[in-house]
Amino acid sequence: MFTSKLDLNDFMSGLVKRNPYEPDFHQAVEEVAESVIPFINQHPEYIQERVLERMTEPDRIVAFRVCWEDDDGHIRVNRGYRVQFNNAIGPYKGGLRFSPSLTLDTLKFLGFEQTFKNSLTTLPLGAAKGGSDFNPKGKSDREVMRFCQSFMTELHKHIGAHRDIPAGDIGVGGREISYMYGQYKRLENEFQGVLTGKGLEFGGSLIRKEATGYGNVFFTEELLREHNLELAGMRCVVSGTGNVALYTAQKLMALGARVIALSDSSGSIYLPEGMNAEQLYWMIDLKENRRGRIAEFAEHFGCVFNEQVSVWQYPCQAAFACATQNELDLDDAKTLIKNGCKVVAEGANMPATLKASHALRGAGVLFAPAKAANAGGVAVSGLEMTQNSMHLSWSVEELETRLHSIMRKIHSQCVEHGHVEGGPVDYVRGANIAGFKKVANAMLAYGVV
Ligand code: NDP
Repeated sequence: MFTSKLDLNDFMSGLVKRNPYEPDFHQAVEEVAESVIPFINQHPEYIQERVLERMTEPDRIVAFRVCWEDDDGHIRVNRGYRVQFNNAIGPYKGGLRFSPSLTLDTLKFLGFEQTFKNSLTTLPLGAAKGGSDFNPKGKSDREVMRFCQSFMTELHKHIGAHRDIPAGDIGVGGREISYMYGQYKRLENEFQGVLTGKGLEFGGSLIRKEATGYGNVFFTEELLREHNLELAGMRCVVSGTGNVALYTAQKLMALGARVIALSDSSGSIYLPEGMNAEQLYWMIDLKENRRGRIAEFAEHFGCVFNEQVSVWQYPCQAAFACATQNELDLDDAKTLIKNGCKVVAEGANMPATLKASHALRGAGVLFAPAKAANAGGVAVSGLEMTQNSMHLSWSVEELETRLHSIMRKIHSQCVEHGHVEGGPVDYVRGANIAGFKKVANAMLAYGVV
C-alpha cells in the first residue's frame, strides 16, 4: 500500500521529469502543490489513490493541423489544440486562446488551473483549454472566418454540449466564437449550446462579456470587507485593456473607485485624477470595435502614455492584473509593497510569478488568486449553458445577482480553508484546497479510472 507522506520537492521533481520544458505548467502545479500537499498528508486516502498525480495528468490532449487560405491566395498552416484536463465533476469547460506565442505548456497550465477554478464556482463544470498559434491581429475578417472554420472542422469531433464546451480567451472574442459556432452548426446540423460567449441572437447570455471583470471586482469587494476595508475611493491600477480589464475598470468605477492606469502590450496610460465615464466608453469602443492601440487614447485625451512603464509603477492602493501570465514579477511586487498597495487581484490567469505572490503575501498585501478572482467568466458561461438547455434567457438583473452570489460563495470557501489565526486570510491556500477537495472526492468515488 502506497501511503508514505507526499513531499513537495519529490513531487515537483517527478512532475518536471514527466513534463520537461514546460515552465508555466510547473509553476501552476507548484503553486497548488504548496497548498494542497500539507492538506493531502492529513488524508491518507488521497495519498493511497494518488489523486494529485492523477490530477496533474490531463485526461487527453488533441493536437491538429489547421490549413486556411489568406486574402492573397497563400496557404497558411497553423496548429490547433484541445487539452481536456479533467471531467470528474462535469463536462470539459474552458476557453480557446489564439496567440502566436501559444504552446502546449501554456495550455496545460491553463487547463490545470481551470480544474480548480471550475470546482470553486459550485457549478458542475470539468476543465479544458485549447487554442492555436494563429495570430488574429492584422488579419481581415474574412481571413479570421476562414481560419475559424478550418479550426472547427477538426475541433467539432472532440466537443459537444455534454462533452466539452469551449469559450473565448485571449484573441478569441465574439467575432471568433460566432464564426466557430456557425461552422459547428453546419457540420453537426444541430443548434445546441456547444460554445459559450455566443451572440445574444443565437443563444448567448447577457453579461457574459462583462462577467470576468465584474466577478473580479465582486470578489475583491468581499475580500476587502472581510478585512474591514472598502473599494470606494481607492486608487486602482488595471493592466490590459482586453475583455477582463475593461469590465474590471467599469465595475470599479461604478463602485466609486478611481482607475488611474491601464495598459496594452505596447505601453501604459496614466490618469492621475482617475478615468471618467466618457473616457471609459471611448476606450471600450476603441478596443472592441476599432481594434485600436492604447496610444490613440492618450493622443485623443492628451494623457500620459509610456511604452516603458508598467501600471505597477504608479502608486496605488489596489492593483488588478488582467492582461496575461507572469506580467507581475518580484520587482513589481516590491514596488507595489513600497507604495502601500493593500490588495492585488489576479483577473488574468497566473499574472503574478510565484516569487511575486510570495513577496506580496509575506508583506501582508491581500492577494486574490486567479482561480477565485476570475471565476466569474466561467460561472456565467455555466449559466449560459443552463439557459441554453432550458431554452430561456435570464435578465441582466437576474444574472448579475447570480454572479454576485457565486462570487460570495467562492469567497466563503476561500475563507473557510484559508483562515489564518490573527492574520489576513490566505486566499491562495483557501482556493486551492477548496477547489481540490470537490474534484478529488469525485475521483475517489469513481475508483481507479
Ligand atoms: P484579451 O485578448 O481581450 O485582452 C488581453 C489584454 O492583455 C490586451 O489588452 C492585450 O494587449 C494585453 N496583453 C496580452 N499579452 C500581453 C503581454 N505579453 N504584455 C502586456 N499586455 C499583454 O484577453 P482577455 O481579457 O479575455 O484575457 C486576459 C486574461 O484573463 C488572460 O490571462 C485570460 O486567460 C484570463 N481570463 C479571461 C477570461 C475571459 O472571460 N475572457 C476568463 C478568465 C480568465 P494587446 O491588445 O496589445 O494585445
